[in-house]
Amino acid sequence: MLTALPDDREVVDDVGDIPDPVGEQALSPLPWVVRKHQDRVLLLLTKRCHVYCRYCFRRDHQPGAAEDPSPSEWAAMFRYARGSGAKEVILSGGDPLAISDTRLFEAIDSLRPDIPVVRIHTRAPITFPQRITARLVSELRARAPVWVLVHANHPVELSPPVRDALSRLVDAGIPVLNQAVLLRGLNDDENVLAELSEELVRLRVFPYYLHHTDAAPGNAAFRVSLDAGKALYERLRKRVSGIALPTYVIDPPDGTGKRVIGYGLP
Ligand code: SF4
Repeated sequence: MLTALPDDREVVDDVGDIPDPVGEQALSPLPWVVRKHQDRVLLLLTKRCHVYCRYCFRRDHQPGAAEDPSPSEWAAMFRYARGSGAKEVILSGGDPLAISDTRLFEAIDSLRPDIPVVRIHTRAPITFPQRITARLVSELRARAPVWVLVHANHPVELSPPVRDALSRLVDAGIPVLNQAVLLRGLNDDENVLAELSEELVRLRVFPYYLHHTDAAPGNAAFRVSLDAGKALYERLRKRVSGIALPTYVIDPPDGTGKRVIGYGLP
């Protein structure tokens, strides 16, 4: 609830606010496309989500702005991806599972055979587990390799329906990884992060990344200082096994992509 309910503090400017906190705007060759790396292309399929997380770094919704690509923008973004020479396409948003199955399957199919690996970055298995239907799972399985990167921040989010949704994906042989965001007042505690990671491992979901909070305007209340984050990560490292230890990363505003703050053995 803390991450979903609007808060008056969101409309207060903070000196640490960065309008484009991970440096995407200058690296957008086309609307709805971000290219930070030669081997990967990021496609934003929609701005819609099932739940709007109050800390999200893509907090750029403008009144009246389009929530979805137009038909011509959609065609152009997929044409760009196919001709990019990239090995992976990341389908993101918004939440790419906020679009219909038909549109999603068409999107994946249109990338093949040029793009061998498709990643779906979605919070739907956590916020709307009913979205992970048997049909969706079997169609994604049929389009392997499709990797699903989910986004859980706290063990309390791993409710029975969420566990079932994650199990449906894993049982079908779909690789599932988690990306958590370090959030003040929510999970800036090694006990909480350890429990989250250990539960994910039990669910056969790899705790891939712990993201340092991006300094998006409006999310200052959630930010943890880098020094506090590093100290917390050292405590977490001592608590969990190697497969339960996410890599702690920061995505700087210069657009150069993620930098590792902490990982693996000390
Ligand atoms: S689901 Fe993802 S894209 Fe949507 S608001 Fe939450 S963090 Fe942002």
